[in-house]
Amino acid sequence: MTQPIIIGVSACLLGEHVRYDAGHKHDRHITDILGAYFTFVPVCPEVGCGLPIPREAMRLEGNPAAPRLMTIQSRVDRTERMLVYCAAKVGGLMSEDICGFIFKERSPSCGLTKIPLSGNGVSELFAIGLFAHEVVRCFPLMPMEEAERLHNPRIRNDFIERVLLYYRKKDVKKESCMDHTPLKANNLLKYP
Ligand code: SF4
Repeated sequence: MTQPIIIGVSACLLGEHVRYDAGHKHDRHITDILGAYFTFVPVCPEVGCGLPIPREAMRLEGNPAAPRLMTIQSRVDRTERMLVYCAAKVGGLMSEDICGFIFKERSPSCGLTKIPLSGNGVSELFAIGLFAHEVVRCFPLMPMEEAERLHNPRIRNDFIERVLLYYRKKDVKKESCMDHTPLKANNLLKYP
């Protein structure tokens, strides 16, 4: 039986009420169109790292190479909590064998591109969300997109093709690993 092709998705895009204001950002391009091809693993890093719903809005601040995740009004630094979660969650995603990720744009946790950095005294400095950064670091070749871009049919079709290709390559790798296992075992038996 063919294995489902699993991709990670920011949970609010699937209609889960996980946003800071207890709302969601259900995106039907994802659930109705991409849902025909892929099985989704929802991830909300802000709820996953233990923050409540609703919660105070946050933003990225400081150095683009090591931005801090700060609550906007009360000035609480959530960076360490988020980084600990990210490291653990990405390990979990590796064992789920994901083949792609769709991120919510403009989020200090999930945004994949151009999240404005505050509090550095320089305008026009950008970073990427802390969770998105960890996914990119650990899956450098895996297809990823922000949800809004997938409204464009050309970009969406391209994403589908890239995920299918990534899936097939992973499958071939797994098969070739399996092929080699008995050979090694035989060799060990013959030549101890
Ligand atoms: S953008 Fe990411 S962190 Fe924010 S609510 Fe959606 S899934 Fe959660």
